[in-house]
Amino acid sequence: MLFPTTIAGSLPKPHWLAEPQRLWPDWRLGGEELRDAQHDAVRIALFEQQRAGIDLVTDGEQSRRHFVHGFAGALAGVDSDRLVRRGIRGDRYEADCPTIVAEVRRSAPVHVQEMRFARDATTRRLKITIPGPMTIVDTLNDAHYGSRKKAAFAFARAIREEIEELAAAGIDAVQIDEPAFNVYFDEVEEWGIAALDACLEGVRCETAVHVCYGYGVPANLAWKATLGGEWDQYAHLFPFLAQSKAGTVSMELAGSCVPPEVLGMLGDKRVAVGVIDVASDAIETAEEVAATIALARRYLADERVMCSTNCGMAPMDRSIAYAKLRALGAGAALTRH
Ligand code: ZN
Repeated sequence: MLFPTTIAGSLPKPHWLAEPQRLWPDWRLGGEELRDAQHDAVRIALFEQQRAGIDLVTDGEQSRRHFVHGFAGALAGVDSDRLVRRGIRGDRYEADCPTIVAEVRRSAPVHVQEMRFARDATTRRLKITIPGPMTIVDTLNDAHYGSRKKAAFAFARAIREEIEELAAAGIDAVQIDEPAFNVYFDEVEEWGIAALDACLEGVRCETAVHVCYGYGVPANLAWKATLGGEWDQYAHLFPFLAQSKAGTVSMELAGSCVPPEVLGMLGDKRVAVGVIDVASDAIETAEEVAATIALARRYLADERVMCSTNCGMAPMDRSIAYAKLRALGAGAALTRH
């Protein structure tokens, strides 16, 4: 089928599960009650995607407090209680960053249990998102390696081990989230792509990498406002991504200043084109979504086009996020027909 749909990854959490509209919310419950509640939230996330006609679904990241810390915080060598406030993403915003205190190791599975639950709960094709090595390193405080590159390859090894087990559990696709790629072009060229490839080397499921301009939170909106009328970040990045091992590149297009010509720089990659703007609460019409898909088709053969959201929807209002899911499904259907 042409123009299959997916989402970047996260969906808002129900208010009974976690504080709403926050990027690093506190859970409302603990222990067994929390696990039960997370499972129910995953059921809702899957249901809403299925009824919207999303083909490659995720668990909505309902079991993680934050898209980076959910993974990194579970590894040996990362101390989640030792928080250091510092600027991240090129000082775009400040965050409380857990500290790398020793050699990083995956001493136990991280997301495998919760993905087994999601696998059981849907017959749709299922994707998991995992933060990439550069983005993890950029969201932590390093008191051990003294080198972002060295630390990144340690995380890449842990990610690779996790993917092996996820693929064995029946996960169809893994997406590495590397928003930091849009900030540190020199590092991308120097070691970022190699670290990404180390995560994906020989994996037995579909692979993707997601690079975006971030959630629709005020700090990102302020940053985007400084980028001028034509955003050239992807033009720096895509020639390198085109050479990576990732099968699909997930990128932002709708409602952005990304020049669509950059789609021509991705070699033979499949592209998960962002056709839903997560920085705006306005619900796209099916026609608007179809128009963004049509724009992408000027640069990509039809079989290379997937339709996606620009980024995760974790901080959004739930009803708006679900309405945007339906717009995504309807716009892709309109294009097919
Ligand atoms: Zn994103």
